[in-house]
Amino acid sequence: AVDLPESQPSPAAPAKLPPGMILDKDGKPCRSCNSKAAFSQWAQQTKSSLKSGVGVAAGAAAAATTATHGSSQVADDCPPDVEALGRSTWTLLHTIAANYPKSPSYREQSDLKTFMGVFSRLYPCWVCAEDFQRYMEKEQIRVDSRNAFGTWLCEAHNAVNTKLGKPVFDCSKWEERWRTGWKD
Ligand code: FAD
Repeated sequence: AVDLPESQPSPAAPAKLPPGMILDKDGKPCRSCNSKAAFSQWAQQTKSSLKSGVGVAAGAAAAATTATHGSSQVADDCPPDVEALGRSTWTLLHTIAANYPKSPSYREQSDLKTFMGVFSRLYPCWVCAEDFQRYMEKEQIRVDSRNAFGTWLCEAHNAVNTKLGKPVFDCSKWEERWRTGWKD
């Protein structure tokens, strides 16, 4: 497990970061915006550079070794990376859709709209959140029935899948995946 004290001065000089590393607004690598592998590599690299006082190149070499050989030692009870956070969040959102009424009341529709709006602003991966807010501006949320919301959410998830180069999910099957279980 990799843990850097909050009080430690940020070692995140931009030139030394692995390529593609997303930073938080405080300039440090964003744990919930990057993969565990990328975050661990950066943290190990930083730790070994600080410990030995050697240059970043040597630290990076040590980190690469750790990343290659140490992946099985990564504990399950670490803060989530972008993928673990995403999987858990989609599970929650699709399960909300699966349990949403077929004919929701005005209050239920309003609650769901409010929840999704707040969710899109609070989602801890800020780059994901900004894209999702843009998606919600473009594709107005549909909350007038379970199927309307489930399908809207499936399409929103597919937009992220497409952005990440993942296969698109067949939205006619969202209820089988998240509510009824697969038909035999
Ligand atoms: P996930 O995409 O997490 O999906 C979990 C399960 O949902 C799948 O196994 C599948 O059975 C089912 N599923 C897949 N697609 C659909 C669908 N369209 N409808 C219904 N069910 C489906 N990661 C980034 O790296 N960059 C981002 O910008 C980003 N934005 C995100 C925005 C939001 C709002 C959320 C919740 C997550 C975001 N993520 C982002 C995380 C990303 O979407 C994945 O969760 C993560 O990459 C793990 O992917 P996965 O392949 O395990 O499956």
